[in-house]
Amino acid sequence: MKLQQVSESCFAVLNEKNRVCDANSGLINRGGGVVVDTQSDLYHARRMIELFGKVWPGMPKRVINTHEDGDHVWGNQLFEGAEIIAHRTVPDRMKRVADPSETRKLLKGADRLLSRLVLGATHPGALAIAKQLRQDYDLDGVELALPTTVFDERHVLDLDGTEVHVIYVGPCHQVGDTIVHVPKEGVVFAGDVIFRECTPMGWTGTYEKWLRTLDLIVWLDPEVIVPGHGPVCGIEGAMEMKAYLEYVRDESRRFFEQSLTALEASKRIDLGPYGAWRGPARLYLNVERAYREFRGEPPDAHWDAAKSFDAIYEVAKARGIEVEF
Ligand SMILES: [Zn+2]
Repeated sequence: MKLQQVSESCFAVLNEKNRVCDANSGLINRGGGVVVDTQSDLYHARRMIELFGKVWPGMPKRVINTHEDGDHVWGNQLFEGAEIIAHRTVPDRMKRVADPSETRKLLKGADRLLSRLVLGATHPGALAIAKQLRQDYDLDGVELALPTTVFDERHVLDLDGTEVHVIYVGPCHQVGDTIVHVPKEGVVFAGDVIFRECTPMGWTGTYEKWLRTLDLIVWLDPEVIVPGHGPVCGIEGAMEMKAYLEYVRDESRRFFEQSLTALEASKRIDLGPYGAWRGPARLYLNVERAYREFRGEPPDAHWDAAKSFDAIYEVAKARGIEVEF
């Protein structure tokens, strides 16, 4: 993990491996201090606090969660007494999609020989992601600390004269998607609306909303964007994300019309320059999302996570590339 200053008062902690769960955090070191997203486990959250401690003494007064996924909220509990701000949908969604005991069970199962054999036989992808996560993460001791302040469309903070706009943009990658704009310093913390140099993993939301949100970020014209995953960028990061999503949706449409399954399409779509991004087989999630839309299914249709990881595993195997999430 490394600390990077991105403007006068804004900083980022970046997880350089850039695999699944390697999420970034932000800090605005004014008006009591605001942390954006809190990492995937207590070890990483403590390390993030230590790095931010170099530029901000003491505990920040506020935390913003950009959405409900575990890799952005599992360090919340370490900010005791802080105001935790998120979109109105996030508390309930966190209970559903970021229950640490579920992931803990998966990681422990990958430890034990018998459960490993069973898991490997039934869900090779779930076993593979569990093994990968275990290399870096340990969910022992993680408990959900839910948001204490929720908002609907927009929430504005005044940090000693510096305005911070917390803007709801979901559901695009997840239901609670929120971006944090610091206009005076030209900074946007984009959460998982932007993945950089790694393949996006969209769950509950629509292409249309995601593309519109990327247009909004370009329109805000920030100097610097801190993405949810990957290195800091400028608006080219938003434009590349948009080009990727449009390309995948168009290609998915082509294969959908030829009656191929989402899995088959994911094995065949030419990755072009996107093959160099981390976790290219995660493409499957984006194809499956497009297929759901073509079939007229609601954006909140259920995802079977284990089956989805199996599909990513199968895509990687079929393409002869490393299985990496
Ligand atoms: Zn994430």
